[in-house]
Amino acid sequence: MEKLVVVDNLWTGLRENLAHIQDPRLTFVEADAERFSSDFQFDEIIHFASPASPPWYMREPVRTISANLGGALNLLNLLKPKGRFSFASTSEVYGDPLVSPQPESYRGSVDCTGPRSSYDESKRCTESLLFESHRTTGIDVRIVRLFNVYGPRTRPDDGRAVSNFLSQALTHGELTVYGDGSQGRSWGYVDDIVEALSRYFWRDELTYVGPLNIGNDREISVIDVARYIEKLVPGTRIKFCPPVPQDPTNRRPDLTLCRKVLPGWEANVSYEDGVRMTLEWFRDKVGQGASTDAPSPVFDTRLAAPV
Ligand code: UDP
Repeated sequence: MEKLVVVDNLWTGLRENLAHIQDPRLTFVEADAERFSSDFQFDEIIHFASPASPPWYMREPVRTISANLGGALNLLNLLKPKGRFSFASTSEVYGDPLVSPQPESYRGSVDCTGPRSSYDESKRCTESLLFESHRTTGIDVRIVRLFNVYGPRTRPDDGRAVSNFLSQALTHGELTVYGDGSQGRSWGYVDDIVEALSRYFWRDELTYVGPLNIGNDREISVIDVARYIEKLVPGTRIKFCPPVPQDPTNRRPDLTLCRKVLPGWEANVSYEDGVRMTLEWFRDKVGQGASTDAPSPVFDTRLAAPV
């Protein structure tokens, strides 16, 4: 019988997200990716162990680096020779991009000592680790760069834009827009993204090892997201807050390669429908008393004054 072992330390994940899956092939192990050990050698490892929300990873940068890079180093030891190692990298590898949309060939504009570096650089270094392992040992590798994923099952205290605005709209009604809100993101609904991942990770005949941009290529500014949610939830208002240091000004995937590697796949859920579906899920969660207290973004005082 095939077996699926889910390893999660529940730092940002929630056990209840798996509660509906009753399948004897699934085993859940509460452990850190960088410390998990097993007598098994796995045919395939999918490494998604990392917080993705800036306030969460900025609060624990060392742990973030450890989860990504330490996780990959440890898990590689558990892979069968020539097994497949898939990894969720990020559009953050492009930093604050100087080209739009961003193709995979764009090398990015990242500050390796900046406030987002624990996330950006550990994703970048894990990409290097996997590419070099592929080159030197012949393991099969699949690396995706995900652009701003949102949707149901995000924790209400996650702190990223869509989930934060929805939690705020359903509680005190004040939507915190950092800066003037003109910064753009490409918001990908979770079902579309999962569909792309399953097509890429589980199609044996594919030989492309990545990196592969996956996301929705319609870019929408943060202020437009806030205004849309303001309209959906009566009584909501926008509160402008100080800008987050080094907040990327724009982000949009070039999907040319994605459309070649995954023919027929498209992000089908419009942003308007996706936000409405996510709102309904949040309404239930917040109604059941889920915590909506996201950590505040970290403001690095070293960046406040020019040196
Ligand atoms: N943002 C905001 N208010 C919030 C949360 C996020 O204005 O309550 C902004 C954030 O500064 C960024 C954008 O929304 O410009 C997307 O932030 P998110 O944390 O969702 O993802 P990021 O792309 O920064 O990783």
